[in-house]
Amino acid sequence: MTASLTQKDLKDLASRLSAVAPGDVAIDKPLAPYTSYRIGGPTAIWVAPGSEDGVRGVLEAVRTTAAPLFVLGRGTNLLVSDRGWPGVTLYIGDNLSQLQFSGVQAEVGAGTLLMDVIRAAVERGLAGMEQMAGIPGGVGGALRMNAGAFGREIEAITAAVAGFTADGSPCRIERKDIAFGYRRAPQLEKIIITSARFHFQTESAALLRARIDDILALRKSKQPLEHPSCGSVFKRPPGYYAGALIEASGLKGERIGGAEISLKHAGFILNVADAAATDVYRLIRRIEKRVFDRFGIRLEREVHMVGDFNDGDLDDRL
Ligand SMILES: Cc1cc2nc3c(=O)[nH]c(=O)nc-3n(C[C@H](O)[C@H](O)[C@H](O)COP(=O)(O)OP(=O)(O)OC[C@H]3O[C@@H](n4cnc5c(N)ncnc54)[C@H](O)[C@@H]3O)c2cc1C
Repeated sequence: MTASLTQKDLKDLASRLSAVAPGDVAIDKPLAPYTSYRIGGPTAIWVAPGSEDGVRGVLEAVRTTAAPLFVLGRGTNLLVSDRGWPGVTLYIGDNLSQLQFSGVQAEVGAGTLLMDVIRAAVERGLAGMEQMAGIPGGVGGALRMNAGAFGREIEAITAAVAGFTADGSPCRIERKDIAFGYRRAPQLEKIIITSARFHFQTESAALLRARIDDILALRKSKQPLEHPSCGSVFKRPPGYYAGALIEASGLKGERIGGAEISLKHAGFILNVADAAATDVYRLIRRIEKRVFDRFGIRLEREVHMVGDFNDGDLDDRL
C-alpha cells in the first residue's frame, strides 16, 4: 500500500469503481496468474471494465484519488514485484477483445490477442502481421511496445490508435503522429489504449498459413517456451545481440532461487521453479553488471518492472 492510501481510501475507491465496472472489482487480487512469468504479488485494487465507457469511468474515478494506475494487458512483458502493486490495476485483456474486419482494414479491441488478429486476418487472405506469429501479448501491449519479430513491427500495419488520456478524455492518434521506434512508441506511453485500426494487404491465405507455420517452428527451435518467462529481458544493443553478450559473459544457465538464465537462449530468464520476482531481479542486475564490466555495454531492459524493486533486495553476490 502507498503511504497516501488508507484502507478506507481503497474501500471507497473500490466501491466507486464497482459502479462503473460491476462484478469486476477486487481488493488485494494476486497478479501472478495474469502474467506470463506467473510471478508477482497482489494489486491493491483490480478493475476490469467490459467496455470503453467503463474504462473512461474508471479513469475519471481514479484521477480524483492519489492511487497510482497501472494498465495491464496480457502480462507477457512484465515483472511484477513480490510486494505487488500499491494502486489500481486496470486490466485490458479479454474484456476488450472485439475484432471487426472491413475490406483490408480491421478495428481491433486493445485486449485482443495478437495471435487471434493474425489468424483472423490470414483466414481472410490478409497479410502484414504474420511475422509476429507467436508473440503472446495483446494489441494494446504490442502497440505500447512496438512489438515485432523477423524484421516486422506492429507499426507497419497500424493506421490509428484510440483510447483515453489518464483523466478520461478520449483520444485518437493517427499513425503519422506516432514516432514508433525499436520497442517504443512515445506518444502511446501516457494513454490507455482501447482499440486500434490496422491496414493489411491481400495475399493467398494458403501461403500465409505456411509462413505462420514456419515462423512458429522457428520460434520453437530458438526460444525456451517450456518455462514461464517474459520473452527477451533486454533490448538488442546496437550492433550486438543481448543473448550473445550474456553468453559471452559466462552467465548461461546461471540460477538464483527459482530463476534461471536459459541455456537455450541467454536473453531469456526463466521461472523454472516457483521463482520470486526478487530471484529474477537479482539475475537481471547480475547480467547488467557482468555485461558492463566485460564489454562496457549498458543493456537496456525490455521487460517492464511493476511495483517496488530496489537494490536493498540484493546481497553482495552479484
Ligand atoms: C515467450 C515470449 C516471447 C516473446 N516474443 C516477443 C517477440 O518476438 N517480440 C516482441 O516484441 N515481444 C515479445 N515478447 C514480449 C511481449 O509478448 C510483447 O512485448 C507484447 O507486445 C506485450 O503485450 P501484453 O499485452 O502482454 O502487454 P503487457 O505485458 O500487459 O504490458 C506491457 C506494457 O504495455 C502497457 N500496456 C498494456 N496494455 C496497454 C493498453 N491497453 N494501454 C496502454 N498501455 C498498455 C503496460 O502498462 C506495460 O507497460 C515475448 C514474450 C514472451 C513471454
